[in-house]
Amino acid sequence: MDQLIQGHKRFLTEVFPARRNQFRLLADSQAPDVLFITCSDSRIVPDLILGTGPGDLFISRNAGNVVPVTATDVDGTTATIEYAVEVLKVKHAILCGHSDCGAMKAALDRKGLEHLPKASRWLSHVEAAFTHRQPGNPADGEHAELAALIRGNVVAQLLNLKAQPAVARAMAHGAISVHGWYYDILNGRIECYDEQGRCFAPLLRP
Ligand SMILES: [Zn+2]
Repeated sequence: MDQLIQGHKRFLTEVFPARRNQFRLLADSQAPDVLFITCSDSRIVPDLILGTGPGDLFISRNAGNVVPVTATDVDGTTATIEYAVEVLKVKHAILCGHSDCGAMKAALDRKGLEHLPKASRWLSHVEAAFTHRQPGNPADGEHAELAALIRGNVVAQLLNLKAQPAVARAMAHGAISVHGWYYDILNGRIECYDEQGRCFAPLLRP
C-alpha cells in the first residue's frame, strides 16, 4: 500500500497541477471515442501502450477479455458495452487479448480451476476460442499453442461483441467499427485481426 500512497502523493503534487485544466474539462462529462475491452491482467496498461489519457478510453476488463453471450442474464461487460454504444456513442470498439494470458492458459490446461467455481464458469465463455484458433508467428516461440488459442479467443469474442444488440444496431448504420487486437507483452507490439484475410497482422506496418 505504501507504494500506492506515495504514488498518489506524487500525482497530487506533480501531475495534477500541470493538468488541472484538463481535469476541469473532464469533471462533469466524458466523451470517449473508444470502448476498449481487455483482460484484467496487470501487465496490460492501455494508456501506456496507446499514448492515451483521461477521457480517451472507456474500458471494460475481465479475466480473458470475454464478451458473454447469454439471452437471459446480464453481466458487467455487456452492460458496459450497451452504455458505451447507446449513450456515449463510441466510434470504435476494440477487443484486445494478450500473450501469456492466465485465463487462456487455464482453458488450455483444463485444470487448476476445480476450487474456483466462479472462474471456471466464467471461462466456459472462451470455449469458442478452440474453434477459432489462429496460426501465430515466429515471435510466439515455444508458446505457439497458447498464442494460437489466445488469438482464437480474440476472434471468438469479437464475434460475440458484434452480436451484442447495441453494437449490431450501430454497425448497421456505420456508427461504429470493431477491432480485434492481440498485444504481445514481450515485444510490446499489437497485432490487428483482418476479418477479410482471416489473419492477424501488425497494427503498425513496416
Ligand atoms: Zn489475460
